[in-house]
Amino acid sequence: RLPLEGWNLEAGYQQLPGKLFSKADPVPVKDPKVLVYNEALGRELGLRLEQEEGVPGGLIFSGNALPQGSAPIAQAYAGHQFGHFTMLGDGRAHLLGEQLTPQGGRYDIQLKGSGPTPYSRRGDGRAALGPMLREYIISEAMHALGIPSTRALAVVATGEDVQREERLPGGILTRVAASHIRVGTFEYLQRFGNLQELKALADYTIQRHFPEILEKSDGEEKYVKLFEAVQDKQAALIAKWQLVGFIHGVMNTDNMALSGETIDYGPCAFMDTYDPGTVFSSIDRGGRYAYKNQPSIGQWNLARFAETLLPLVHQDPAQGAKIMEEKLQGFSRAYEAYRLKGMGEKLGIFQAAKEDQVLIQRLLQLMAEKEEDFTNTFVALTYGGEEHLKMAETPRFKDWFSRWKERLEKQKKTEGEAKALMKTANPAVIPRNHQVERALKAAVEKEDFTVMEKLMTVLQNPYENSKEKKPYQEPPDPSAKPYVTYCG
Ligand code: AMP
Ligand code: MG
Ligand code: MG
Repeated sequence: RLPLEGWNLEAGYQQLPGKLFSKADPVPVKDPKVLVYNEALGRELGLRLEQEEGVPGGLIFSGNALPQGSAPIAQAYAGHQFGHFTMLGDGRAHLLGEQLTPQGGRYDIQLKGSGPTPYSRRGDGRAALGPMLREYIISEAMHALGIPSTRALAVVATGEDVQREERLPGGILTRVAASHIRVGTFEYLQRFGNLQELKALADYTIQRHFPEILEKSDGEEKYVKLFEAVQDKQAALIAKWQLVGFIHGVMNTDNMALSGETIDYGPCAFMDTYDPGTVFSSIDRGGRYAYKNQPSIGQWNLARFAETLLPLVHQDPAQGAKIMEEKLQGFSRAYEAYRLKGMGEKLGIFQAAKEDQVLIQRLLQLMAEKEEDFTNTFVALTYGGEEHLKMAETPRFKDWFSRWKERLEKQKKTEGEAKALMKTANPAVIPRNHQVERALKAAVEKEDFTVMEKLMTVLQNPYENSKEKKPYQEPPDPSAKPYVTYCG
């Protein structure tokens, strides 16, 4: 049974200048079948299961029918891809509208893989089923980890094939997001819009994501505040990625959402062995988006965002640039503070201070040298079993371990309190690449969804180290080929 009732859609985005979107309907597919539906999220959105009449959900999640109140559009945006400016836009996605939830929230409901749009360029507007299921698994796992993310409401098989290197079954994902406003949306108007249009977008973004700015600021100041708010969210977000070993893989400016949610799950993956240089994406040959580069790339993207705001910030562009350059300096400070706090928590330190950086850095250095599993090292420190780590018997680890214990004894907290803190900061499980692949293989090749369901259940409460999690904590077989991701 699928949600048929409770749609409460608005098209607020369409108040914005017309060049920011094109009216475009999803293109119906041959034989839609709902494969997964996120009931908990559906409930949060106010969608109701009890009605059986009307338009079946499967038709809505495939784009074959539109929900009540929907006025679909494809959004225009540009972006820097691997450092180069390009015109982009939703080439295979349709925004059905913004769902107003019973709690007063407003969420974009977007179909991805729903057919060509005016922005498709040479693309077919479609998506393969495997990558849509993969986004479902990983974005929901991110949410459960407490990391801001777009959500996944449903995945539909289209009954049609898509031609990639090989023919693959097609799929459509229903994505739920605080919004789809990207750094690239501003870059699009910087290039193709006028001052009025830019102002309209900035005002809309403030209104939708940072209304508190309006209580204190007005005029040019509010655009500086917008920048600071976006920057702070990104610093917090990227710190969270680093703390769980998440590698986004394609941090182009069009894949940075101003809401502060993780968006675009194409080539992302979680790191197993700790190696700061880790890259999974097949197209990232230079390692631009390697794990260790994520914070600096975040700042690079924010610089592109800051540039788009210059004409709003000051009449004199040189003055505007001076203001924004100074604000950009705040990124490293904010990021380092979030990371230090988070790393402290991973080690049971309640108020990590600058001096603790040495302790943190020494551990990471050892982990890298001994090729320790990132997640499992912290699991061992939290739940015991550090004697099984590869580095356990090295004098440097023993020395580190006693210094760590000394540090914990110095704070006015019991060992139990420190351990409890660590349990909130160190996931017992992450979506391991080999487990995700196993689930996708069963689902796509055998239409067996039990593997994926089991995995999703385990990933639902990642900070609870129960027995059922054991098999999901195993790192990949050391003989396995390096994991490679594709843009999907
Ligand atoms: P991404 O690398 O996922 O951020 O996508 C970059 C751009 O390519 C976006 O504008 C997408 O809409 C577009 N795109 C990706 N795949 C397709 C496709 N199959 N058909 C049309 N556009 C696509
Ligand atoms: Mg994208
Ligand atoms: Mg993508």
